Amino acid sequence: MLPDIEKLLELQAADKEIRRLQDEVASLPKRVAVIEQKLAGTKAQLERARTAAKSDEANRKKFEANIKDLQGKISKYRDQSLDVKTNEQYKALLHEIQFAEQEVRLNEDRILEVMVSVDAREKEVKAAEAELKAETTEIEQEKEDARKVTAEDQKKLAEWNGKRDALRREIPEDILRQYERVAKFRGTGLAEVRDQKCMGCQVKLRPQTYNEVRNGEKVMICESCSRVYYFNPANEVKPEQEVVTVTGRKRARPKTDAPQAWFYRPDYGEEGEVLLAFTNSGGNSTRRIYEMHTGRQVGGVLLREGSYRLAFPEDLTDSALRLNGHWDEKDIDEWGSEIPSNALDLLHKDILAIQREHRAGHKDHSAARAEQPAAS
Ligand SMILES: [Zn+2]
Repeated sequence: MLPDIEKLLELQAADKEIRRLQDEVASLPKRVAVIEQKLAGTKAQLERARTAAKSDEANRKKFEANIKDLQGKISKYRDQSLDVKTNEQYKALLHEIQFAEQEVRLNEDRILEVMVSVDAREKEVKAAEAELKAETTEIEQEKEDARKVTAEDQKKLAEWNGKRDALRREIPEDILRQYERVAKFRGTGLAEVRDQKCMGCQVKLRPQTYNEVRNGEKVMICESCSRVYYFNPANEVKPEQEVVTVTGRKRARPKTDAPQAWFYRPDYGEEGEVLLAFTNSGGNSTRRIYEMHTGRQVGGVLLREGSYRLAFPEDLTDSALRLNGHWDEKDIDEWGSEIPSNALDLLHKDILAIQREHRAGHKDHSAARAEQPAAS
């Protein structure tokens, strides 16, 4: 890999870490603000409960004063009743007394209501006070944590900014400008090239461009997304899996004694076209069947005693075409119910290569036959 590209990758890592730290620093006050808002809500609730308790108290006093007044009136009416001259006057006073007594009872009922309410209010105030206390502790803790994390983040930010500045000084200005301009608009300024594709925009590279990127002779830029290309051989399809040369005429021959064998069958009962994978292991063999076009597994894994040629004779008919392809059985297990597209592509290409060979073989024969009469 070109040293400039290596530095750009480091720069990208630094940029990413700086962004993460900045986001974290920005998010901390927001978290504190959320708790502070909750705290304000609890404070308001407590205030309301206290005001309600006060008005209950005032009401109770009012009802008590009412009763006192009424009792004063009653005793006054009683005194007056001793001096009345007529029966009518006596009846009128008695009526007044009865009315006042009724009012006293009403006020007593109100006081009882208030007392019940006071109990509920007291509980409400106590709960709000406890909540306020807990939230105050929580916010103090949160603020303390935020202060600590922010201080640590600021320190890390200073370090990363230093690293970033140093890297920027080491990268040629035009490359740096390209990287930073694209990163600003697209989020990333670098794109990996994998399986002949730009992983930034998924556009396929022309073979020549692809080779140039692989060879890593110069810094190259994606024509479609403007990101700077990099190539990581570790992420590329492994050479032993790269069994088919797309442009080459000759197709690689699979080994007959390989512990794993892939076959194509165009006529597999109801399934039609399928891929068969056999693996020999420890005196046994397994068989997996996949739908040819989609790569979806049909049925489960079948295990039989003996190597696959002996164990699965009914599958290896004359129409079965032996394909190139080998993957660890562990990997195949990890595929789950579907062959991944890169593996499926390789198998499909091999089928095409076989068909091409067959056609070429027929053409050669017919050409040879056609030439004979002319030669004689
Ligand atoms: Zn691209």
